[in-house]
Amino acid sequence: MELIGISDCCHYFSGAVNIGYVNKEGQGLLIDSGIDKGTAKKVLKILKEHQLPIDHVILTHAHTDHYGGASYLQKELSVKLHAPQLEAAIMEHPILEPIYLWNGAVPIKKLRNKFLEGEPVIIDEFLVEGQQELGSFHFEAVHLPGHSYSQMGIIIDGILYGADSYFGTKVLEKHKVPFIVDAGATISSLEKLKSLTLQGALPGHGDYETAFDGTIQANIDCHNNIKLFLLNHIKSSTDGISMEALMKRMFDHFGLKAREIGQWLLYRTSFTAYISSLIEDGTVAISVNEYTLWLKGEPL
Ligand SMILES: [Zn+2]
Repeated sequence: MELIGISDCCHYFSGAVNIGYVNKEGQGLLIDSGIDKGTAKKVLKILKEHQLPIDHVILTHAHTDHYGGASYLQKELSVKLHAPQLEAAIMEHPILEPIYLWNGAVPIKKLRNKFLEGEPVIIDEFLVEGQQELGSFHFEAVHLPGHSYSQMGIIIDGILYGADSYFGTKVLEKHKVPFIVDAGATISSLEKLKSLTLQGALPGHGDYETAFDGTIQANIDCHNNIKLFLLNHIKSSTDGISMEALMKRMFDHFGLKAREIGQWLLYRTSFTAYISSLIEDGTVAISVNEYTLWLKGEPL
């Protein structure tokens, strides 16, 4: 992990998950906290070496790699935590993630690990969309749902800390099917990013870029491509296809590897999100057939 400067006041800790850090008038703002106590400890150590403070913490969304370290920060520093309201509900009750992944049933113990269930925190204030002040910081929170229910990006001094609203191209190529909960909202959020005038942007996973339009477009193309693949498969199956059979084809086509149950469930959520958008677009119908959920192309 390394503290990298973007501008006079904007920095980030580079890693598998990037963590934003802004320093202004002797105050420090941390954007996300890393996955666990170990990561949060490293952040504190590096800031201490540079004699930099933390006064406020913004948590962009309720995925453990972004908020799991916040519990340690809350106990160690008594800093105030800020998060979007719906995301805050999960951060305060982290079992909700394994619950939703496990179809709403009480999750099996295997799913109750630090990758799917972070340490609980108490959120001090809800982060709302728009221009706002927080201590020495003036910033804009941008609502970027799709990857999670109510994710927020932060624009400060013309730099966007984009959370997981988009991924760096290498990350996108690796995952092939990114994690999403709403395909329509994911694409709308990406279109929103395209309309912003910024000096540069940092995704939660990937590199800081000053010219990031190509990366945003690669994300849009990725989602549209997956949606089209699924739609074509449904339409070419004259009698329709079961959700299970179609998901198997998606795994096969994109060469997805899920060694852990958790990984498989994350892919299933993305798959369900794409199917939802096809149903809501009116191009696919869903029913119960042969005891399974059945998809069929709607006649044009
Ligand atoms: Zn995420």
